[in-house]
Amino acid sequence: MSRIALLPEAVACQVAAGEVVERPASVVKELVENSLDAGATRVEVLIRKGGNSSIRVVDNGCGMDRDDALLCLERHATSKIRTGADLMAIHTLGFRGEALPSIASVSRFRLATREHGALAGTEVLVSGGKLETVRDCGEAEGTQIEVRSLFYNLPARRKFLRTENTEASHVEHVLYLQAIGHPHIGFVFLSDDRLVYQLPPGQSLRERIRDLAGVAMVSELLEVSDEEVAGIRVRGFIGRAGVSRSSRQQQILFLNGRPIENSTINFALREGYHTALMKGQHPVTFLFLDMDPAAVDVNVHPAKREVRFRDPAHVREVIVEITRRTLETDRASWTKTFTAPEPRRITVEDHTIPLPLPAEPLALRREWTMPFPPAAPSPAPQPSQAAEPLPEFVAPPKPPDPPPPPAAAPRPANDFKIIGILGRLYIIMENASGLVLVDQHAAHERILFEEMSRRMEKDGVPTQRLLLPITLHVPPKDADWLEQHLDVLNRAGIGLEPFGGGTFKIDALPQFLKADDPPQMLRDMIDELRETSQQTSKLRLGEDMIAKTVCRHAVKANDVLREPECLRLIQDLLACELPYCCPHGRPTMIQLSYAELEKKFGRKA
Ligand code: ADP
Ligand code: MG
Repeated sequence: MSRIALLPEAVACQVAAGEVVERPASVVKELVENSLDAGATRVEVLIRKGGNSSIRVVDNGCGMDRDDALLCLERHATSKIRTGADLMAIHTLGFRGEALPSIASVSRFRLATREHGALAGTEVLVSGGKLETVRDCGEAEGTQIEVRSLFYNLPARRKFLRTENTEASHVEHVLYLQAIGHPHIGFVFLSDDRLVYQLPPGQSLRERIRDLAGVAMVSELLEVSDEEVAGIRVRGFIGRAGVSRSSRQQQILFLNGRPIENSTINFALREGYHTALMKGQHPVTFLFLDMDPAAVDVNVHPAKREVRFRDPAHVREVIVEITRRTLETDRASWTKTFTAPEPRRITVEDHTIPLPLPAEPLALRREWTMPFPPAAPSPAPQPSQAAEPLPEFVAPPKPPDPPPPPAAAPRPANDFKIIGILGRLYIIMENASGLVLVDQHAAHERILFEEMSRRMEKDGVPTQRLLLPITLHVPPKDADWLEQHLDVLNRAGIGLEPFGGGTFKIDALPQFLKADDPPQMLRDMIDELRETSQQTSKLRLGEDMIAKTVCRHAVKANDVLREPECLRLIQDLLACELPYCCPHGRPTMIQLSYAELEKKFGRKA
């Protein structure tokens, strides 16, 4: 007797449903995608008890005639592809023809649909995959689908549903993604009769983000200039340098209109941000990629969250480049705020009651109003014993007249005014927008880092030869890594030569490095860098190394800086490519605007 039998259709659907329908949020996702594919301009979603009790999606899309309303409940029935070749280039969100029959097989399902201009619509009722009723109905044009008692016929699955709140938050996230992804479509979301949001159709992406994520979020974002690079169009917004979150929740990516998760892009973003992102943090993005559908496979997983790129290296390059470029655009707007302060100061004539100003009322207008520490104690002991002179950036004290113009972008000295130093750490400045606080240590780290990276790219970091070479013994795994990365290490100023058998000779170290125990330092560094090297390019690895070591050499929090040094530091900082955060992604400057001050002092509501 043969043992194999074809599964009854209803059971086959339930099996398929296991993959497509995991929870209420997956139902909402499938139904909303269908509405979008149907050309709807308005989608309304209502859930009860987190969707566990009921889910209703109403759209004003094309609707279906009676035949289609019945056919759409058959497995592998779709209007979106016709041939195997169509699979190579998918332009719609759906294509598998699985969602409706799967959902209908595990719920009490009602479909009411009416084509535009049709006299009557069709209503179809299905329970647990069994067709119960088909009749005419008088609903509005478009399609309504109601899904009640999800998994009522699969108690094992029903048990896995979480609390109403948890399920509701999953639904909300799914809708959030769809609403961000389609700002031109109007969305209404109701949960247990409470209006969660109502988003008008025809919004711009910026307006949509503002409505869903808040004004504060919008102010943290930079717009990606909408352009096509080598077949990939990238647009949207990414967080400014230093803006990050501890989870990936706000790292939103769309590919050809579909929200996706993709490790190639995650790594590329991380690399693009590089030093502008704190360790363990994730960037904030609302990034839209559009490319030839043939260059990407979306048929990887039934839920279609994952995609496979035909040429991941190319995608990565484009994302890295665009991220870098976008972050750098912010530099222009930052430096713009550092223009000469407007004369906002109180002068005696402005007041009928003269203020008790010191003898010289214009004293406040002078460049340096707060006494700086006396010039006597030299801040950083100058290592005169070094064989070669140290590079210029480690010896900042130089008289400011004429102020040494930073190499990259000369800028008049009165762009900002230094007022003083707070707690031996924060430089207090005034600029056109208000008050600026600069973390001198973080600022110096950034300057050193960029200087070093530039040198590394050009002709390698300046090194200091060791009088007596050091030998380093490492285990085979480390030896292998070191040999593979010798060129980067050499460029980064570490003179390393393999002797075979896990032995290396170190005969030079970067000038800026002050390591007491170079072999130990190298061992530590190998450990740390090996981890990063799996994700980033070789050049970035060198930068990572510099970022890690630079910190030890930068002006320390408690080093006392005198006025010319401060001025020089700020000028050098402003000439950096990413002046607003240190190589570890922490901010270097904080701006407190006049508006914020006025608010704090209660001058403005
Ligand atoms: P797929 O979306 O993969 O084609 P579905 O099972 O989700 O499969 O839907 C089957 C078909 O039903 C779709 O191809 C589409 O023609 C039709 N359909 C589903 N939802 C709607 C809707 N909201 N409006 C119009 N047609 C719809
Ligand atoms: Mg579908």
